[in-house]
This record gives sequence, structure tokens and C-alpha cells, in this order.
Amino acid sequence: MAKYVYDFTEGNKDLKDLLGGKGANLAEMTNLGLPVPPGFTITSEACRHYLAEGAVPDGLEREVAEHLTAMEKRMGKTLGQADDPLLVSVRSGAKFSMPGMMETVLNIGLNDESVHGLAKQAGGNDRFAWDSYRRLIQMFGKTVLDIDGELFEQALESLKGDRQDTDLGAAELQGLVETFKGIVRDQTGKDFPADPREQMRLAVMAVFDSWNAPRAILYRRQERIPADLGTAVNIVAMVFGNVGNDSGTGVAFTRDPGSGQQGIYGDYLQNAQGEDVVAGIRNTIPLQELERLDKSSYDELLRIMETLENHYRDLCDIEFTIERGKLWMLQTRVGKRTAAAAFCIATQLVDQGLITLDEAVTRVTGDQLAQLMFPRFDSGTEKKKIAKGMNASPGAAVGKVVFSSERAVELAGQGEDVILVRRETNPDDLSGMIAARGILTSRGGKTSHAAVVARGMGKTCVCGAEELEVSIGERRFTAPGDIVVNEGDLISIDGTTGEVFLGEVPVVDSAVVEYFEGREPDDDLVRAVDRIMRRADEVRRLGVRANADTPDDAARARRFGGEGIGLCRTEHMFLGERRQLVEDLVLASGDEERQAALDALEPLQKADFVGIFQAMEGQPVTVRLIDPPLHEFLPDLTDLSVKVATGDASDKDRKLLVAVKRLHEQNPMLGLRGVRLGLVIPGLFAMQVRAIAQAAKEVPGAKPEIMIPLVAAVQELEAVREEAAGILADLGVEALIGTMIETPRAALTAGQVAEAAQFFSFGTNDLTQMTWGFSRDDVEAAFFSRYLELGMFGVSPFETLDRDGVGRLVTIAVEEGRAARPDLKLGICGEHGGDPDSVHFCHQAGLDYVSCSPFRIPVARLEAGRAAFAECDSDTR
Ligand code: ADP
Ligand code: MG
Ligand code: MG
Repeated sequence: MAKYVYDFTEGNKDLKDLLGGKGANLAEMTNLGLPVPPGFTITSEACRHYLAEGAVPDGLEREVAEHLTAMEKRMGKTLGQADDPLLVSVRSGAKFSMPGMMETVLNIGLNDESVHGLAKQAGGNDRFAWDSYRRLIQMFGKTVLDIDGELFEQALESLKGDRQDTDLGAAELQGLVETFKGIVRDQTGKDFPADPREQMRLAVMAVFDSWNAPRAILYRRQERIPADLGTAVNIVAMVFGNVGNDSGTGVAFTRDPGSGQQGIYGDYLQNAQGEDVVAGIRNTIPLQELERLDKSSYDELLRIMETLENHYRDLCDIEFTIERGKLWMLQTRVGKRTAAAAFCIATQLVDQGLITLDEAVTRVTGDQLAQLMFPRFDSGTEKKKIAKGMNASPGAAVGKVVFSSERAVELAGQGEDVILVRRETNPDDLSGMIAARGILTSRGGKTSHAAVVARGMGKTCVCGAEELEVSIGERRFTAPGDIVVNEGDLISIDGTTGEVFLGEVPVVDSAVVEYFEGREPDDDLVRAVDRIMRRADEVRRLGVRANADTPDDAARARRFGGEGIGLCRTEHMFLGERRQLVEDLVLASGDEERQAALDALEPLQKADFVGIFQAMEGQPVTVRLIDPPLHEFLPDLTDLSVKVATGDASDKDRKLLVAVKRLHEQNPMLGLRGVRLGLVIPGLFAMQVRAIAQAAKEVPGAKPEIMIPLVAAVQELEAVREEAAGILADLGVEALIGTMIETPRAALTAGQVAEAAQFFSFGTNDLTQMTWGFSRDDVEAAFFSRYLELGMFGVSPFETLDRDGVGRLVTIAVEEGRAARPDLKLGICGEHGGDPDSVHFCHQAGLDYVSCSPFRIPVARLEAGRAAFAECDSDTR
């Protein structure tokens, strides 16, 4: 027989799945001997049954009745008994805290008779009794009967006038009860239910239903809380903070949730009930002042707070009520905190001997660390928001608006801060993006060019702000409300929220980034980060490398703790002035011309590698041979056509137009790229391998690894590997030769591929794209938000590695690759390498390292450390 109801004496804090956070912790406090009113919890399992079947499970009503009877016996009074009533609250409480999202009803059990009994209990305090009764009808009406809460509020307001609620007398409150009952009758066509047990039964179902209230659904989506957990319901004997001035209600934290400082943080409100303290109906007083009002309750509260901190070994938040000088605990939980407080509290608890440093590592998250690494807008200032796009790359950036890469470079060269605004960016905007403080686009999703590049650079970016009309030609954009922003105007963009503001919003710097850049720890937060990072580095098994293709990025990667480069892309080495040479390569009419173009590229490539090898000082550098289709380096088809049509074209332009048309592809991502280029264009890969080898010879200790992209079959790899190995041997350079695993076929035939590869690096961007059949450049803007809404996935598979599908391919490739070649080195170099959950997956899958953009390295280091503790997952909600 299923058990659906647990007395507070039967539960404990580890039963959150079943009893919800509130119920589990009320039970825990009960068992600690703290003053908790008697009560019991209906499980979330009962709720799930109710939501699925539309009716409560068999036996639930009987179990509830039994527990209620036991409670009545203990209290010596029965629910709603006319002369001496027991009253209860019916409170929601799910596994994850969803503050204020679901419902609670207080004072269940009051009706026209028991209201007099309640007054008698309080020594003839009629005012208190009628106040409690009007609260019940108000809460019950709104929550259970679905009546617009405003109707009750307005009636209360018009009665109060300029007075406070505590100024209302018994007779007035009695009148208000009549008014409220009238509202119930008008709105529902029925009387307010007087039967206490019926009140309770209806309230329980209303709490179940509140799991699916629109705001609860929205909150869950935002916080990625699963939609099928359901909520538990707690039935708690009422205690009263509204009996008079010797009573009251309050909330407290065992330490400051903003900074982690120890001390007394909380608010108290005299002669009040429940929500009053947070609802702002009257001004609360700081908790410290309770000492003056009621010293013995205050002292007891401080003792309890200490007990709770020592017991939970963490910051707790608390709800309490004082009824005529007697303290009651109504809720506690491990409290939410800011990212900075999370780090400080974790190390403080270590110093207090409450937790070990290892536990401290599990108590903070990579997401929290990432938050600490971005400059932020000062929250205290007023802002004028003009649009909201996607929060593509966090941070806060302020600058003058520019609409072209050239202008960005020009103004930045004069020492101006600029924000590059484009409809969308392309590889030619790179210099402008580097020069800008931030990037704003009106099109494209979180993996659009702008977003990916900005994240890689650690640069603030808001993308897909669709409300903005960007006119590059007129050098201005417009926002809703006839706002026109011209080139040179100041704007501020928040990449953490996606918001765009007019004018300059002040920013504050991140001390944590300065620390990673090499500054000695000199405040509590940075010292805390330092201690936790050191420990994470000691315990992690995963290596952490960087995706970096310039000496600057490489150097930053090392400062941030990278242990090599896992992905050095070579395509940027074909951009800018070197496009000319790519054009020559494409237009070459014979072996000789082609070789001449390659010969011209080789020394340039070599110089690039020398810089990177030097910056890495003997750490391994995985160089990926050229990957994108060559037409990406050629002029735009339309531009060329126009030039030719208007007679502005040179001879070369005309030839280029022919070549561009010839190379045009319907699906470039699935076209002539990666290893296919190496096989189709003789000498291209050989040139790159020679450049790598020559550079390695020049830099003592250089450790190159040569990586072939987009391999699907071992035959492809075999062909280019042989040529590369020959070149290395001729030049007397040692380098590993390996492949990316980024096509499903390569993963599925990993045993064969490993015969020809000394290492695998999972290119999970392409692998995700090809496994799902999602064109990355199209799907996000087109339908991902709808997919998220429909729950097709909880998070984009381009953000967090899809364990079931893509992850399975990775696992297969790891197993079969290692079986074929036991010393096969394994890494990952997609965007996922810096994503917390994906890092945990990589640890579990047995990879040797993850590689991510330099700014994500600390996050990856921390999460790799946390992953080493088996029971720790990537979030700590
Ligand atoms: P929430 O989850 O929104 O905080 P709660 O269930 O905690 O909702 O209840 C709302 C308010 O009512 C809280 O301030 C709580 O302390 C108070 N409250 C709940 N049950 C009781 C009770 N039995 N006696 C007195 N106050 C209560
Ligand atoms: Mg609460
Ligand atoms: Mg790829």
C-alpha cells in the first residue's frame, strides 16, 4: 500500500523528492527538537497522481483524516471546533524552491462559530479573531475559488482609508468579513464553505493545481526545473503573529546572502501574519531590534540559527512567528545566494571546520564563477531600456554606436569605446569585433557568428534584438517608441540579460578576472576563488586546454590555467590581405600556378605558428588543418555580379565570378570542406603541415599535434595522414597526427578510424548538427524558442551536450577507439568544452581533456574538479 502522508516526526531533510523542500525541512527541524507547530505532509507522489488522473489517489483521504485526528488529539482540540478551534495552514512546497509561485492558505477551520472560539482562546481578543477570519476568506477566495484578489484588496483599502491594517477594530473587521463573504457569493454563486474539513480538502486540491499555474510553469522553464515533479502539501497547526504587539512574524538569514558576511540579517513585523512581512503592507523593522521588543525570543532565535547553520553546514533562510512571546519556526532551507556569496560562504565554512575544502569545491558552480568574471552594470543606477535581445555573451559594455568594422577600428584607434551594431556579423567583421567593447546584432541566435565569436573572445554580445531596425546605409538604428540612435550615440548593452540601454550606464570591474590575469588575491572573494580553484586543480582528472588561434589568445589561455591548445583553427590565417592568395589558389590554372600560390602562403602560416608555439612554451598545440569551404574566402556572389554587370569589373573579378559560381554549394556545411579539401586540392594540406613542422623546428620544445577535420571514413584519414607523416619525417619533426570526430560515421567506425589516428578530438558543434540534422545557422532563430516552449529539449543541444544522442556517439567512439588503440588521446573541442554539464559528461565518458575558449578555462577547471566528486552534478539548486 502506498503511503501518501508523513507526519513531521517521520520525515527528514533528505526526503525532498517525496516531501518537497518545505516538508522535508520542517520534519528535520522537528526532529532536531526545534519549536515547530505539529503538522504532516502529503507527498508529491499524491500530487502527481492527482494531476495525471484528475482525482486524488485511493486511500489519501483516509490517511489525511487519520493524521488530522492524531494532530487533534495531541493539541486537545479539533479542526474548526466552535468553542476552541484548531486551525491549520495548507502550504505548497516542491522539491526545488519556487518562491511565491504556488499557493498557501492560512487559518483554515474558521467560520461564523469558530471565530468566537478563537477570540476566547486569545483571552477575548475579538479583533484578532476577525482579522484571522477575513484573511482566510481573502486567501481562500483568491487561491481556491479563483476570485480576482483585487476585489478583496479594494474592499480592504477603502475600509482602511489612510489608516494601517492594525488600526482596524473588531467591529470593522467583522464588517469586512461580511463584505468578503458577499464577494464570494457574487463571484461564485455560492456561499463561502463553512465546513472546516471541506475547506481543508478544497485547499489541498488548490495547492496541487497551483503546480500548473502559468507563472509556476514559466518559472520552472526559466530555472530548468522539470515539469513533472509536482508539489507536496503541508498541513501545519496555526500559530499566530497577529494576536497583538507581543506577537509578530519575520524572516531571517543565518548570514548575508549578498556577501556571505556573518551577522544578523532579517526583518520583523509586529502584530502581523504570514506574508505581511514580505508584502510590504507596513514597514518592517531590522531583526536586531527584536532584541529590544522580546529579548528571550530573540536570544532563542539566534541560538536556533546557529543550530541550523551547524546542522545544515550552510547558509539557511528562515521564517518564524512569535505568538504572545513564544517563538515558532515555520520554515527553513539552504538559502539562495549571489555568486560572490557562494564562494565566500564555502570557504568560511571550511575555516569554521564545518565542511572540508573538497565539499567547498562542490558548493560552488562554474556558472557562478562565470558570473564573477564579467564586468557588470551598476545595479543602483537608473536605465532607459530600448530593446531586449538574446544574452549571447555576458558582460556589460558601453560605447559609441558604429555600424562598420572599419569605423570601429578607426574610433577605437582614437581611444574611443565603441559598440559594433550590425544586422548580423560575418568573418570580415572580426577586426571590428575585436576593436569594439561589445557587439549588438538584430538577427541571429546564440550560436550565430556574432555570438560564438564574442563568447570566444569573452566579449559582451547581445544578438537577435529583433525590435531594432538597423540601417547600415543610413548609419542608424531605430527602436520601438520612435527612438533613433545615430552613429556616435552612446548605448549600453548587457550580455548577461540581453538588454539594450540608451546612454551610458556605469560599469564595475571584475576583480576575479584581474586575479586570473595574475593579480595577487587581495580581497575575501578573490581569496575564496583562489582557494577553491587550487583545490579543483588538484582533484580534477580532466585536462583543460584552450581553443585559441592567435599568440594573444594563447598567452591568455596560459594565464587562465590552460594546459595546451586543443583547437588552433587555421582559417583566420587566410583572411585579410591573404585573401588575395586564396583567390590565386582558386583561380590557378595549373599545377605550377597553384603551387606558387601555396608557396606564397607557407611562410605566412609558418610565422603564425611560430608565434603560437612560443606563447605556449612547450605545451601541446593541436592545429586543425583548414576546415571551411574555400568560397568563404572569396568575394560575395552578388557583389561580383553587380560589379560585372555595371562594367566596373577587372579581368580578375570576371574570373572570380566564374569560380564563385562554380564553387557555390546548396549546403556548404555538408559540402567541400575539411578533409575533402585536402584530398581535392593537391598540396594544400601539405603546405600547412610543412608550415607547422618548420615552425616547430624554430621553437625549441614546441609540441605540435596535427588534426584533420571532418573525417567520415578511415580511408580519408589514411590518405592525408600518409602524406603528412612523410613530410614530418623528411623534416625530422615529431608530431602526433589525429582526427576530429565530428561526423556520426566517424564515431560509429571509431575502431577503424583509430587505426590511423593517434588522437581523437570530438567536434561536438558539427557532431550535434549532423546527429540532429539541425543546420546550426538556421534552426536557432527559426524554431528553437518554440522547441524549448514545447519541451522538445530543456536546453539547446548546441549549448549543453545532448547526452542521449550525441553523448552516445561519443561513448561509442571512446570505447571502440580505445579498444583499437589503448593509448589513444581523447579530447573535445566544441563549444561544449566550457559548458558545466558537458564537462561533467566528458569526465564520465573518460576523456583526457576538454578544450574551450580562453575565458571559459576557469569554469572548465572548476567543473572538472567538481566532476571528480562522483555525487556532484553541475548545478546546486
Ligand atoms: P511560501 O512558500 O510562499 O513562503 P508558505 O507556505 O511558507 O508560503 O506560507 C506563507 C506564509 O505563511 C509564510 O510567511 C509562513 O511563515 C506563514 N505560515 C505558514 N503556515 C503557518 C502556520 N501554520 N502558522 C503561522 N504562519 C504560517
Ligand atoms: Mg515560506
Ligand atoms: Mg567542425
